[in-house]
Amino acid sequence: GHASTAMRCVKLAGGGDYMVFEPRMAVDTRDQAELLHDLRHAVANGELELFYQPKIDAQSLQITAAEALLRWHHPLRGLVSPGIFIPIAERYGLIGTIGQWVIDEASRQAADWRASGLRMRVAINISAYQMRQHDLVDRLVAALKTHGLQPGRFTCEITESLAMEDTRVTQRSFERMRRAGLHVSIDDFGVGQASLSYLRRLPAAELKIDGSFVRDLATSADARSIVDAVVKLAHALQLRVVAEGVETEAQRDLLVTMGCDELQGFLFARPMTARALTLWALDDGQRTTMKHDFRPSLFQETVP
Ligand code: C2E
Ligand code: MG
Ligand code: MG
Ligand code: MG
Repeated sequence: GHASTAMRCVKLAGGGDYMVFEPRMAVDTRDQAELLHDLRHAVANGELELFYQPKIDAQSLQITAAEALLRWHHPLRGLVSPGIFIPIAERYGLIGTIGQWVIDEASRQAADWRASGLRMRVAINISAYQMRQHDLVDRLVAALKTHGLQPGRFTCEITESLAMEDTRVTQRSFERMRRAGLHVSIDDFGVGQASLSYLRRLPAAELKIDGSFVRDLATSADARSIVDAVVKLAHALQLRVVAEGVETEAQRDLLVTMGCDELQGFLFARPMTARALTLWALDDGQRTTMKHDFRPSLFQETVP
């Protein structure tokens, strides 16, 4: 039926066949209801997993952080993209449980990596619901404390549009993040309507340029001007700039020339399992000697 045409079979680097259910494919109402039903049990059934995608220092090419990206291994549908199930979870009140699972799992993994001598930050994506929870920061601090982690080594990625909400409750979350010393990143920057004065008041240390601008860099003078302006703006506000969605060497070279501090994208690595990222990160020495001769990593999530 509808659902099966919306699924595609792809080969994962590991070998097995996976169905990937993607956001750009239509999800009809019956699908939604089914997914919602199944999602209620996903955490308890151990069907969620965090994949990690590295952020790379543009100069040293060292790994600076690993961004946790949620994956749902649906027993029948295979891999369901967060672009599909996060909005459902958000809408039907499941994001609280899922968000807490992400906090615990990412903290545990961060502690694991520290114990193996890997010093990159771990970043998680914070949903709108979580940002409005009055005890979000208490939960974050508690998880970090359990695992003996410094708050500054943990990044909270908050989208620009959510950050700009500027309501009492989101302001309070930001204020508590500042006091707790968490590393705050403004995600998907450029697509929302950031007010510069408000941006200056946020406790952010990092700005992530939205992938849509990066995608058009080599072909659009407008995209180049926007990225150039965002880099200058961020630096004027003492923020580090990360470009997401870097796929080509041409994009990488332009971003480096414009002074972008960190890069993230399929050119360097796709989101991958924690184990694969451990190997990738330990291989740092080899990668940095390759310098400007990047090759796609062996440890890659499959392109649909
Ligand atoms: P995001 O935080 O902006 O993450 C970047 C997305 O772009 C990820 O998609 C990533 O796999 C993808 N990406 C990375 N490099 C490239 C590239 O070079 N080219 C292209 N075309 N795409 C690239 P993903 O994993 O499907 O996640 C989509 C969104 O779902 C995320 O956007 C984030 O907003 C949300 N999300 C993922 N995990 C979580 C989570 O644990 N909690 C919450 N609240 N949201 C999450
Ligand atoms: Mg993100
Ligand atoms: Mg992003
Ligand atoms: Mg994005």
